[in-house]
Amino acid sequence: MDHLLRIEHLGIAVKDLDAAEALYTRLLGVPPYKREEVESEGVITSFFKAGPNKIELLESTRTDGPIAKAIEKRGEGIHHVAFEVADIKAEMSRLKEAGFTLLNETPKRGADNKLVCFIHPKSAGGVLVELCQEIIDP
Ligand code: ZN
Repeated sequence: MDHLLRIEHLGIAVKDLDAAEALYTRLLGVPPYKREEVESEGVITSFFKAGPNKIELLESTRTDGPIAKAIEKRGEGIHHVAFEVADIKAEMSRLKEAGFTLLNETPKRGADNKLVCFIHPKSAGGVLVELCQEIIDP
């Protein structure tokens, strides 16, 4: 059975979403295809496609939000790597049993119609890993 199916997107923390959208539009040669706020996470996101790949820009909407804190610690840049999974609950228990620290114990609703779970970077070699599963019936 396949577990992590592919890299679904890269998440990039930015201070100023308008400026970052302009930069990535110049870099990738295409405008973002969607902006979406995830209130529970305190972020506004913007999505780009680069061929088959997806880039998610994240700006904090709160000074104490996770993206604001990440930028404070490490500056702007790559924030997480998201993998697509077919069965998020099964992968969460597999990874938990394998010794990874899950940041949420039940899947939560993320941007772009996904159920998501984050894995603590301390248990994953310094990389914040996101699991995401497409929601079929929104
Ligand atoms: Zn993400």
